[in-house]
Parts: sequence; structure tokens; C-alpha cells
Amino acid sequence: MPSNFLELRNISKRFGGVHALSGINFDVVAGEVHCLAGENGSGKSTLIKVISGVQRHEPGGTVLIDGKDCSHLSPAQCIANGIQVIYQDLSLFPNLTVAENIAIERHRGLRPVRWAEIRSIAKEAMDRVSISIDLDKQVAELPIAQRQLVAICRAMANDARLVIMDEPTASLTRREVDALLKLTLELKRRNVAVVFVSHRLDEVLEIAERVTVLRNGEKLGTFNAQGMTDQRLGELMTGKSFDHQPIKETLTVGLPVFEVRGLSRAGEYADISLSVGKGEIVGLTGRLGSGRTELALSMFGMTRPESGEMRLNGQPLTLNSNRDAIENGIAYVSEDRLSLGLVMEQPIASNIVLPILEDFSDALGLVQEDRLRDTVRRWISHLGIKVSNAHSPAHTLSGGNQQRVVLAKWLATKPCLLILDSPTVGVDIAAKDGIYAIVRQLAAQGLAVIMISDEIPEVYCHTHRVLVMREGRITSEYRPLHTTEAELRAAVDA
Ligand code: ADP
Ligand code: MG
Repeated sequence: MPSNFLELRNISKRFGGVHALSGINFDVVAGEVHCLAGENGSGKSTLIKVISGVQRHEPGGTVLIDGKDCSHLSPAQCIANGIQVIYQDLSLFPNLTVAENIAIERHRGLRPVRWAEIRSIAKEAMDRVSISIDLDKQVAELPIAQRQLVAICRAMANDARLVIMDEPTASLTRREVDALLKLTLELKRRNVAVVFVSHRLDEVLEIAERVTVLRNGEKLGTFNAQGMTDQRLGELMTGKSFDHQPIKETLTVGLPVFEVRGLSRAGEYADISLSVGKGEIVGLTGRLGSGRTELALSMFGMTRPESGEMRLNGQPLTLNSNRDAIENGIAYVSEDRLSLGLVMEQPIASNIVLPILEDFSDALGLVQEDRLRDTVRRWISHLGIKVSNAHSPAHTLSGGNQQRVVLAKWLATKPCLLILDSPTVGVDIAAKDGIYAIVRQLAAQGLAVIMISDEIPEVYCHTHRVLVMREGRITSEYRPLHTTEAELRAAVDA
């Protein structure tokens, strides 16, 4: 019989008229990985703040730790009871070393400072979770992913029994997420419980035992992670159903905006012909390695085709670089949005205007701040990006919002062709839905879109026409309205 490390009964929290939490019951079993899911504003962070003593809950609720009544503990008492929260800002000291950051709490008050002891506390904490990071590096020099690991090591040094991570994966690449998930399993092996708040639910569900869903401050339920799907979870979180239907409106396509004839590049793709009309969303699918991304890179001027031609609005088009492509109105949102798409440390606002910064310089080369601010504000509202402050660094955004910022950045270049490569990798189903809605809206305004994806439902439900690639060639074409998803899948797997 597994014992509850933590148990919350009837926890409520009001901010003025807002019921951030209403009568929540929630428990965490020692050594389990528990995912906390809910849309923005559903109360996840507030729940974590109550658990960690940062916010006081309303009278009438109870918090039990190891079965003992621990309501209204201070943050320090919560830490002493083994509860550690890794906040989005990680609250590390950037000017201190890795070792100092890890050992700082444990060493507090010891005078004189014993450096050897700091190093050994830090080393031990790292060893416990099989991590090695240079102890003498300044935290400021580390990439975000490693800072996160330092924060977790600090939690270990403080004898954590429950580590709570509030959106730890939002700014990580897939590889870094894998490392974090591995570390989570390591914590679990040591009987440390982990509560994850994440938008990348598919990844977290792989390692979680249970998932608790909040909606508007209320608990919808706690479910077994096994058997839970992304779609079901999205429905629970939002109360909306995500129906899988192809685009219904038929499109009368006029002259093509973009055309490719007989395009080839040895070893990558061969004899590619395709066209995209104004307002049309064309899907490009196929198995990994079928040449989709290679083709996209040539269409964006990153590599040169060896033969064949491209035309834009009827005119022959030669691209020597991605700069040529941008100048001609071609935008490309890469698959690796996190390492290529955004400068994570830079403010959201700068990320949006990065490719068009020149446009905001006056004759003297000075940036016209007010025009720049207007543009940023317009795109944030146009794409419904949820930010409290456009000057916060991009890594503070959730995955779905980061994707929107990348879109905004490209749309600010006023493209006529938008190439999206795997636009929804790593975002949850609700955020996916938001991105599809944006893409459709942009197409309705006349943008030509090529959507590359290996997710069959994605191209089936969100494009007008799908091209299937195999071994560098386009092998078939489907109109989702006139075919089934199974048929399309069969063509890809053939
Ligand atoms: P989540 O983390 O799920 O996005 P939060 O717990 O941050 O949600 O917020 C839940 C609700 O409580 C939101 O409506 C939010 O605006 C409100 N809220 C959170 N913290 C405060 C605060 N300190 N003051 C006023 N309202 C708050
Ligand atoms: Mg939150």
C-alpha cells in the first residue's frame, strides 16, 4: 500500500473576486511522477504556491505531510519538510558558481565559508542524480537546460522528498527534455516524488503514473497516465472536443503563388513538381528521411537545387540564400523552432522583430522605438500570444506561445508563402488547435502555405491538399475531403 507523502483536502484560494482554487483535493504518493495539467489560468501555479507555503489557502482546508497536519507552513518550513519547487525563473544566482548554487542553502550560516565543503555537498548531490556539470562554472554561462539541472541538484542537496517543476520543458529541445525525463526517473528511483506542470503532455505522460486536471480552479479528476491520450487530456483541460475533420470549405485556387518544376538535388530529393495557390494550405508528408525537410530548405534558399526551376507569382526565382527567400516573401518556420527559431534569452519583443529590425532604423541607423513597440503589440494581439510582458525572455513562454512568437516573427516580414516544418511538435493539443486556427486564418487572408508534417491527422485535417513523399520523390496526392485518413496513412506507409 503506497503511502501519501502529501495530501491536500478542500483547498481553496481567492484573489479578490477570482476563485483561483475551489475545494481541491490532491495527493502525491512517495516516489510517484504526477502530472498537473490545465490551461493557462486554471490554477496550477497557485496550487503549487499553496503546497510550498508561498500562498496561504482559505480557512477550511488542510495540508497533510506524511499524515501530519501541516497547513499554513512558511516556505522555509516546507523546504525543511522536503518540498522543493523549481520555478520557471529557477531562482538561481547567475553570478555564483554551480557548486555555490547547489550548496547555498545547506551551507547557510556556516562561517567562515568552507569551500571544500561546498564543493563536496554539490558533488554529492550531482552524483545522486548521475549528473556532471563543471562545479566551478558560473551559472550565467550555462544554457537554460543545464541551469535547470543545477536547480534540481540544489533540491537534492536539500534532501527533497517532493520536487515540483512548474513548466520545466517549455524552453527545452527534445534532447534536453529527454535528459530531464531521465533525471526524473532517477529521482523516482530514490523515492522522491515529482510533480510536473508541463504543456508537453505527450512527453510527460510517458513517465507519469497519474495526471490531475484542473479547469477554472476546480479539479476535474485524477487519472491514470497509462491509457490517457493527448486528445482526451486536451478535452478534459478545455471542455472542448477536438473533432478530427478535414477542412470543409472547398477552395477555388487561381494562379499559383509558388511553383516548383522538376527540382532535384542528388541524395536529397528528385524531380519534384508542386504548386501552391493563394489561400491554399498544401500538406507535405512522408516518413522521416523521405526528403521533406531537404526540399523545404531548398525552397527557402538554404541549399541550391541542382536542376529544375522555381517560380514565384509567375516569375522565375533563383535563391542564393535564405536572405533572398525572405526578400522575395518566403517565410520558413523550422522544425527545430527552439534552437533555430527563437533566441531564448532575448526578450519576446526582440524575437518578433528580429528579421525586420532594419525596417525600424531611421536614416542615422537609430531604432525607432515607438514604431517597433507598435508592431510588437499588434502581432501579440493578432496571434493571441499570452504574455504579461513583451520584455520577458522568450524562454518564459509556454511551448504553444513560443510557436506563436515564431509565427509572428515571420509574419512581420509580410510573406506571400509560408513554409511550416512540423509546426506543432512539442505543444499540447489545445495549443495545437490554436496554431491550426491561426494558419487557417492566415490562408483565408491569402497567404499560400506549405505544411510539412509526419503527423497524418495534422495534414489530413488542416490542409486542402496533401502531397506524399517517399525516397525523395512525390509519389501521390490526396484531397482530404475526398479520401479517408486511413487511405492517406496507407500511402505514407506503403
Ligand atoms: P496557471 O498556473 O494554471 O496558469 P495560476 O495559478 O497562475 O494559473 O492562476 C489562476 C488564476 O488566479 C488566474 O485567474 C490568475 O489570474 C489568478 N491569480 C494567480 N495569482 C494571482 C495573484 N497573485 N493575484 C491575483 N490573481 C492571481
Ligand atoms: Mg502557471
